[in-house]
Amino acid sequence: MTGDKNESETRSVAAGAPLATLPVFFKLSGRRCVVAGGGDGAAWKTELLASAGAPVDVYAAEPCERLERLAAGLAGVRLHRRAWTAADLAGALIAVAEAESDHAAQAFRADARAAGAIANVIDRPAFCDFQFGSMVNRSPLVVGISTDGAAPVFGQALRARIETLAPEGFAAWAGVAREWRADIAALDLPFRARRRFWEEFAELAFARPGVAPTIADLQALLAVVSDEAVAAARRGKVVLVGAGPGDPELLTLKAVRALQSADVVLYDDLVSPGVLDFARREAEKLDVGKRGYRPSPGQPGISAKLVELAAAGKTVVRLKGGDPMIFGRATEEIEALQAAGLDVEVIPGVTAASGAAASLRASLTERDLARRVQYVTAHGRDGALPEDLDWRALADPGATTVVYMGVRTLSALVDKLQAAGLDPTTPAILVDRATWPDERRIVATLATIGPAVERAAPAGPCLLILGAALSRPAGRLQD
Ligand code: SAH
Repeated sequence: MTGDKNESETRSVAAGAPLATLPVFFKLSGRRCVVAGGGDGAAWKTELLASAGAPVDVYAAEPCERLERLAAGLAGVRLHRRAWTAADLAGALIAVAEAESDHAAQAFRADARAAGAIANVIDRPAFCDFQFGSMVNRSPLVVGISTDGAAPVFGQALRARIETLAPEGFAAWAGVAREWRADIAALDLPFRARRRFWEEFAELAFARPGVAPTIADLQALLAVVSDEAVAAARRGKVVLVGAGPGDPELLTLKAVRALQSADVVLYDDLVSPGVLDFARREAEKLDVGKRGYRPSPGQPGISAKLVELAAAGKTVVRLKGGDPMIFGRATEEIEALQAAGLDVEVIPGVTAASGAAASLRASLTERDLARRVQYVTAHGRDGALPEDLDWRALADPGATTVVYMGVRTLSALVDKLQAAGLDPTTPAILVDRATWPDERRIVATLATIGPAVERAAPAGPCLLILGAALSRPAGRLQD
């Protein structure tokens, strides 16, 4: 079985984004922990550590009642009726203390660190190597929450919500999952089928949290995946996935699901890092960006790579910016795959035009003003403005025109459009990196857009939108 533990973990934060604290889940069974202090706080931490299976040595000259009870009731808790000394910390994994002053806290942490332990001084975050977060306990399912001390009440409110989201019955579900895990692995199902099994298992848990799964459920779940298992074992496939214009939240659920089951992800330049974060962690990620005029793998090379990977039995996700079927050279890839007898699926995405229109809060169609929308590329095979564009259609005052790949040839395009009779005062907006956090807009008219874009020198992918429809939200067309 490979990498099963991480299959369903999705990174929801962009790679490299700052992380206030690292959430980790310690196995404490058999790992000695030390608690110094006799108050309620010390008792609570003792109980927590002992619940997680740690043998806990508590040093307290005057133990509170609760500590006395714990020591009497829990086999792992040993109460030493004296103050702690540095020697007591030897061999401890975790050392927790109550301290009366910062000075005492500092001394404790220094001794703990010298002994190789990580320290927590209760209610003195400045002297803590780690914090105890709030938690939702559905063991073996455990959710930990931390706000790094920034907003404890907020954290508690969130905890309350998670409590309702994860009913107590989930403990039994997670327990059964643990029991079944080895058996499912032993069936040696293909990755996708195994994943599907656990997805169905989770669905059932959410639908029926109060009733733990039975052997009959196990059989039903296996029946669901077995057909797929047979098919999946046969050969790999390629899924062309629309990555949307940039904002990862614009991915479809289908796209996320495909990314989560990919063995390999091939992606373009236009695909944002946040989108790639949704890929299965173990998936190999290959950058096949066609970077303008710089050397790149080239379309035939990409198609060949897709065929090679799918023929080798891989589930390949080919991530394309926007929608794969719009200026995405999808046909070449689909034909190459079909010619090789391989399965190909296409998952649509939000095309840049839709992303830009949404950002602008500007409808591309407008009753009476724009009854037609046309998407054109201003980038011919040789990089120049294609000569054979339908200039009459492009000069249609009743259409909204969205120009993809139009920055380099912008001035030539404007000249042609004016020559074809399009009114120079037609609203024209260039949207740079639509839906990315650093999106920029250049608001102008057909006559002024050329120099305005030259001045602004946009660096990202840009879309030019032209047409009377854009005059409607005139008040909104601010840069
Ligand atoms: N399949 C893509 C288009 C690929 S062609 C889609 O459906 O959107 C590449 C061109 O798309 C770029 O040169 C640019 O004109 C446009 N584009 C892609 N993403 C964009 C974005 N976030 N903002 C503005 N234009 C974008």
